[in-house]
Amino acid sequence: MTLPVLFLGHGSPMNAIEDNPFSRGWAAVAQRLPRPRAILCISAHWETRGLAIGGAAEPETIHDFFGFPQALFDVRYKAPGAPWLAQRVRDLVTASPAAPQAIAIDEVRGLDHGAWGVLLPMYPEADIPVVQLSLDRTLTPRQHLELGKALAPLRDEGMLVIGSGDIVHNLRVDFRRAVTPDWAARFNEQAKALIVSGNDATLAAYEGLGEDAALSINSAEHYLPLLYVLALRKPGDAVTFFNDTVFAAISMTSVVLGDLKAA
Ligand code: ZN
Repeated sequence: MTLPVLFLGHGSPMNAIEDNPFSRGWAAVAQRLPRPRAILCISAHWETRGLAIGGAAEPETIHDFFGFPQALFDVRYKAPGAPWLAQRVRDLVTASPAAPQAIAIDEVRGLDHGAWGVLLPMYPEADIPVVQLSLDRTLTPRQHLELGKALAPLRDEGMLVIGSGDIVHNLRVDFRRAVTPDWAARFNEQAKALIVSGNDATLAAYEGLGEDAALSINSAEHYLPLLYVLALRKPGDAVTFFNDTVFAAISMTSVVLGDLKAA
């Protein structure tokens, strides 16, 4: 059983608990996947120096945001961890040509909202084990793409790999006003075209893509999870976009690589 791989534009943390088109889009895609043995999530919200893998047996729910309603702070997403998968991921990344010097299993860290915020609508029963892999910010974008390739066997082992971020993410644009700058819409379309054409190297070299990309990826942590997902593409994988919306300078555009079951 080979699972598709997903990039999810997560946007506001409120999407975790709101019944809206985005949370419904995530849930609908989950319904069209085989049931995963476990989930590996690469989230925008875990940045480290040196690579870290979440190895907690019972990961806590981290509320890594401010200024949201109490209901969001009350969420506990009680999916089990998977220390066996953390070990497997460590073995895989250690063998990569892009392996960082430092690779650690973190037995304390829980799940951040980039992970549980999308998993709650997708798998509300919280009965599928979840492991997170950090973004080692000492790596170049090209190295992130290369490191992602080391995770390729996981798809065939029944694991669902999810990159959680936003292709366009610039909070300097007021997201309470639903005005999308032209550069945000343009870059989102450019990125989609490059994804469809399999131009992963160009997507990793986004720093050479000009002003639209520079404004859209102004801090990169929300974009980098996409590179891990692209790294796991297999020849012949279908490319499907959903939640394909940009509001303000946040893109909700989400990507499935691989076959979904009929709706
Ligand atoms: Zn985020």
